[in-house]
Amino acid sequence: MVYDDSNIFARILRDEIPADKVYEDEHVLAFHDVAHLTPVHVLVVPKGRYADMTAFTKEASPAEAAAVFAAIKAIVDQHDIAEGGYRVVSNCGEHGGQEVPHLHFHVMGGRQLGGMRRSS
Ligand code: 5GP
Repeated sequence: MVYDDSNIFARILRDEIPADKVYEDEHVLAFHDVAHLTPVHVLVVPKGRYADMTAFTKEASPAEAAAVFAAIKAIVDQHDIAEGGYRVVSNCGEHGGQEVPHLHFHVMGGRQLGGMRRSS
C-alpha cells in the first residue's frame, strides 16, 4: 500500500486535527478511538510513515517495534485491563478490513469480547 500523507491519522500526528491522546513517546502516539466499540478502545499509532503492518514489518527499526509493545503495556496499565483481559488487533489491507491507511493497533477491553468466530 502506498503511503498517503493526507490520511486522518497522519493529520492527527501533525496536530492538524484533535484527538483524545492517552500516551506518547518518540515513536508512538495513542488516543481513544472516536467510535469506540468497547469501554476501552485505544489506537496505538506508530509515528513513522507506515501504511500497514506489511510496511512496518519490512521497514521499521527495532526501537519502533519495541515502542509499540511499550505503548500497549502502558495503555493496559492505565486502564487497568490486564486482569480482565483485552484484545489487540491490527487490520491490514483489503481482506483485513483496514479503513485508515496508516498502521494502527486497536487495544480493546473493559468487557467480555467473546471468542473469535469464523464469519465466512
Ligand atoms: P481500521 O478499520 O482502519 O482498523 O480502524 C480505523 C479506526 O479509526 C476505526 O475504529 C475508527 O473509529 C477510527 N477513527 C477514524 N477516524 C478517526 C478520527 O478522526 N479520530 C479517532 N480518534 N479515531 C478515528
